Amino acid sequence: MEEAQKLQTIQPIVFRQLQNSFEHGRLAHAYLFEGDQGTGKAELALWFAKHLFCLDLQKGMPCEKCNNCLRITSKDHPDVVEIEPDGQSIKVDQIRALQSELTKSGFESAKKVVIIHQAEKMNLNSANSLLKFLEEPPANFMIILETQSLGKILPTIRSRCQIIHFQALSTERLQSRLESEQIPAKTAKLLANLTNSYGKAVEISKDEWFNEARDAVIQWFNYLEKNDPQAFIYVQKKLVKTFKDKTQQQFAFEMLAYFVKEKRDQVMKQNQTDLKTYNYLLEEVLSASQKLEANVSFQNIAEQVTLRIVFA
Ligand SMILES: [Zn+2]
Repeated sequence: MEEAQKLQTIQPIVFRQLQNSFEHGRLAHAYLFEGDQGTGKAELALWFAKHLFCLDLQKGMPCEKCNNCLRITSKDHPDVVEIEPDGQSIKVDQIRALQSELTKSGFESAKKVVIIHQAEKMNLNSANSLLKFLEEPPANFMIILETQSLGKILPTIRSRCQIIHFQALSTERLQSRLESEQIPAKTAKLLANLTNSYGKAVEISKDEWFNEARDAVIQWFNYLEKNDPQAFIYVQKKLVKTFKDKTQQQFAFEMLAYFVKEKRDQVMKQNQTDLKTYNYLLEEVLSASQKLEANVSFQNIAEQVTLRIVFA
């Protein structure tokens, strides 16, 4: 039951949706789990399989203790087959092997669950091969496709699956997930506030530019907070060189906004009531970010913001 609780916390809507389907016996032959990396798709796929094989359902949920549940957890159940990309793609041979295995084992009587991970990596041949399957699904056969890129799944496949959308992780969950990947807590918190995508956050954290960019913004913030006129020179000396394209520049303001909010929270916790400075800073940063959207140059905006803050 612990597993159920965990999944329910990560994906409350999906969990309820699937649980309802089980309770009312309204299951599809094919599901397409769509959502970002780290949102629990693979875990929910296994939980789904356990639902079908559990020998001792508890209040309609897998017991996690019976022989079948345990074997599915340890990926050792003969009727739960998982397919993952072989190198860069899921090859047609993998799908064919699956087909022949299912035929051989006389699947008409036994239940089978097939989970295809990173389904967007099926090449055209594999996808077409799978399609034949989906067009005439054998009885007691359940397939779960899992993908981060719904757009890369052939429309003909999509239309034969029930699509289940997985929500992005909450900021807190994403942060703790990043921490479990050995990303330091402070960085994990920053990343979780900048994006709600686990994959994106990990990618950013591995980019050398990110460290430099973060340090530059921290330095800028320090100047601004102290009304230090050096903040103005710093724009040209450092920021313009670090934040080159528009995505990076937007990122600069997002990070700055984050550090201002962090500081404001800290100040609030110390029971200081004077939050004026930080609220003013935050307003300026947010409006700067909007100006960038409206195509004003980064240097112009950054200098204006600096002047307005330092000489406020
Ligand atoms: Zn069980």
